[in-house]
Amino acid sequence: MFCYQCEQTAGGTGCTKVGVCGKNEDIASLQDTLVFALKGIAAYAYHARELGAHDEEVDAFFSEGLFATLTNVNFNLESHIELLLKAGKMNLRVMELLDKAHVERFGVPQPTKVQVGTKAGPGILVTGHDLLDLYELLKQTQGTGINVYTHGEMLPAHGYPELRKFPHLVGNYGTAWQNQRQEFEEFSGAILATTNCVLIPKDSYKDRMFTSGVANLPGVPHIKDRNFQPLIEKALTLPPLPENPGPTTMTGFHHQAVLALADKIIEAVKAGKIRHFFLVGGCDGAKPGRNYYTEFVEKVPKDCVVLTLGCGKYRFNYLDLGEIDGIPRLLDMGQCNNAYSAIQVATALAKAFGCSVNELPLSLVLSWFEQKAVAILLTLLHLGIKNIRLGPSLPAFLTPNVLKVLQENYNIQPITTPEADIKAILG
Ligand code: SF4
Repeated sequence: MFCYQCEQTAGGTGCTKVGVCGKNEDIASLQDTLVFALKGIAAYAYHARELGAHDEEVDAFFSEGLFATLTNVNFNLESHIELLLKAGKMNLRVMELLDKAHVERFGVPQPTKVQVGTKAGPGILVTGHDLLDLYELLKQTQGTGINVYTHGEMLPAHGYPELRKFPHLVGNYGTAWQNQRQEFEEFSGAILATTNCVLIPKDSYKDRMFTSGVANLPGVPHIKDRNFQPLIEKALTLPPLPENPGPTTMTGFHHQAVLALADKIIEAVKAGKIRHFFLVGGCDGAKPGRNYYTEFVEKVPKDCVVLTLGCGKYRFNYLDLGEIDGIPRLLDMGQCNNAYSAIQVATALAKAFGCSVNELPLSLVLSWFEQKAVAILLTLLHLGIKNIRLGPSLPAFLTPNVLKVLQENYNIQPITTPEADIKAILG
């Protein structure tokens, strides 16, 4: 953070007046964290607002949070930590709002088998998080012969009844955001990017790519007012995709679907058939070391259940982990905002077992990449959830002192190796 009082990087080597302006690198770190979280909360609030939902308390917090990061307005460390926890609370509220808006518009998600690969005929691949964009595109492509595919964080769309009712929503293609350049090059149809995380396109597919909403790319046409006609026309001029089916994967384990299995789950835990639950999810990324999450899920013992969400799931969602007494061992709860569903399930299980969430046989092993992940982490801290394992590395914007506070109060730990972490958790 640049300090306008001593005109140096606050608290850095050039800062000569730390004692005067009081802005040190810990406050800068907390303010950076707050700004990142506000960006993540804003993304969820944007989607909720597009669906007609908003919350005045959340809206007010954008002003409060940003104001608190102004030059020479707040020098208090404790108050910054309180603001971060409040950001977590606001993010919980906005994830709840978005979940409700999705369910009201598109129905309660149901466990759904999704075909991976392509079908013969023209196609459009939709990436990002905006389910309303996908819905409008599905309406406008009805009867055109175009097949629509989900990519990345759009995969959970298949679980929503009002989206899967369209027979031309035929399946999922590709994996997480960092593989876009290769996957979009190989997908010969048209492509729509609705939100982050979208990459600057290669020339090889730039001319068949479109953006919508907040997403925008240089030299790529931008769809306005959800009028997808230019995208549809482009898809119809491109050579048809080949018939190339891949494996299948499951999604749609919204908290209402999981809680419908609550009696079975509780019985299986009491009978010792389910030993532990792992929430392995979050953002994927290109950084080496993320194969930790694949190996972790592969090595989870057979009497444990894995919950997942976000695009980190592509590291292992092709695995067939089987079932325990009819309960699937791998439950995809949805997009990163469906962390709300995971919280609902954990809270309901804690209530059923008469304990706190921290006392449940549940461990969180999260992967982070961008600002929504920061907001979700703060939500978990706001709820008092401890012992989170975070990777592939701890955020570089946390100073050693801030990290120490998080470790002392919440026991946040960096991931190590799958074997060592599983052993440490299960004992
Ligand atoms: S889970 Fe995170 S990294 Fe993945 S697409 Fe969503 S926001 Fe981006």
